[in-house]
Amino acid sequence: MTDRYASFVQSAAGRAVVKRLGLPDPPRLRRHHLGDPLLPGPALLGTATGGRLAEPVGTILTAAGVELRDATDAGPQDRFGALVYDASGITDSTQLRQLYDFFHPHARAVLPSGRVILLGTPPDECPTPREATAQRALEGLVRSIGKEFGRGTTAQLVHVTRAAGDGVLTSLESTLRFLLSGRSAYVSGQVIRVGAGEASVPADWDRPLDGQVVLVTGAARGIGAALAKVLARDGAQVVALDIPAAGDALAAVANDIGGTAVQLDLTAPDAPTRLADHLASRHGRVDVVVHNAGITRDKTLGRMDADRWDQVLDVNLSSQERINDVLLERGLIPTGGRIVSVSSIAGIAGNRGQTNYATSKAGVIGLVDSLAPTLRERGISVNAVAPGFIETRLTARIPLVVREAGRRMNSLAQGGLPVDVAETIGWLAWPASGAVSGNVVRVCGQSLLGA
Ligand code: NAD
Repeated sequence: MTDRYASFVQSAAGRAVVKRLGLPDPPRLRRHHLGDPLLPGPALLGTATGGRLAEPVGTILTAAGVELRDATDAGPQDRFGALVYDASGITDSTQLRQLYDFFHPHARAVLPSGRVILLGTPPDECPTPREATAQRALEGLVRSIGKEFGRGTTAQLVHVTRAAGDGVLTSLESTLRFLLSGRSAYVSGQVIRVGAGEASVPADWDRPLDGQVVLVTGAARGIGAALAKVLARDGAQVVALDIPAAGDALAAVANDIGGTAVQLDLTAPDAPTRLADHLASRHGRVDVVVHNAGITRDKTLGRMDADRWDQVLDVNLSSQERINDVLLERGLIPTGGRIVSVSSIAGIAGNRGQTNYATSKAGVIGLVDSLAPTLRERGISVNAVAPGFIETRLTARIPLVVREAGRRMNSLAQGGLPVDVAETIGWLAWPASGAVSGNVVRVCGQSLLGA
């Protein structure tokens, strides 16, 4: 599906009309291509007094080939690919002024599709109420910058645990590489937590999933097909699963990426054991499980028959639980394993006509919250992504006026692409991202829904 309005806006005639009438102005987003530098220009790195993260972040960025500047050598004409600020030293609200002092002079110096990243301490790890209050305040700045800077610039807050460990720094590196690059084009206004956990540095950051066996459910089309492609590009051996009726499309996806296809209805009573048997006999393990398959059966609650309720809950939530249980019981997800589930902003905000769907997708968030602490002990991370409006067959079915509203009601004034969700899931799946667990990351262009 194409966004004709966005194409029009990017034409010369379109630009004139949009400016004159004050219409939404969706910018062309920077997306990742193999070999791209992380940023379109240098990064300005600043720190509040006493920050503990600027030094390791400087080392990470330099190693990743980013040209670094600090505020003392930044002139008024300079333009930046990113503004990165270590706010971890802020322990009292009176010190928040340092944020203004850093961002104000450079607020208009960020290049198109630039990045703003604030680094802080999780408020629940702060030793005093004053510090927790000041750290919590950072969210308001980040979310407002995401709405204010425009031209495809995104803004995120990264909470980095105080706990020591190599895993923390490795996952901070994987997170920064994701957020600065075009992989995170449609992710904005997010708070991402890097906690304690094991993580391993890849031999090659261009192939961060090298040698990993990855299961993708619902891989025949839409987000799942994009996922299979992105994960294979990143080095994974992909097992693509979908219903038998989608067999031809599934085979085409699997052939295209040199992966394998499994035709299985996830709601069949024997699906978990058949899947586990297949993975055990072919691969001996599955490093990454991506629960992407999902359906909608929309009706307002008063008009919804029980079948619509049952089908949606079963495909979108209960089948994920049954499959996790069997794969974990049989030890098929090894230490270093990853589970990534696809939720939705409907699961956060709720949606008219989608009581069944929103219940299932909120349940997915519950699954992440409840499994993350226990699986962390086994060295397995579990996260969810919550897509907003993504251009697929699912959203093409929405009536035109509602569809246009969904597309534009976000800071980037456009729908996301399946590849945007796929890149986000890819980052969570990397062996380097093991200390990122228990997160729900929205891929919604900072949608107003549920914000
Ligand atoms: P899609 O309908 O294009 O693809 C979903 C795939 O899942 C299909 O290939 C389908 O055959 C498969 N599937 C459905 N039931 C299955 C079952 N019982 N067993 C095996 N496979 C099954 O949808 P999409 O837009 O690509 O969505 C992918 C995921 O993203 C879903 O979980 C959806 O809820 C979620 N999501 C999508 C959007 C969006 O805007 N497109 C927004 C939020 C969340």
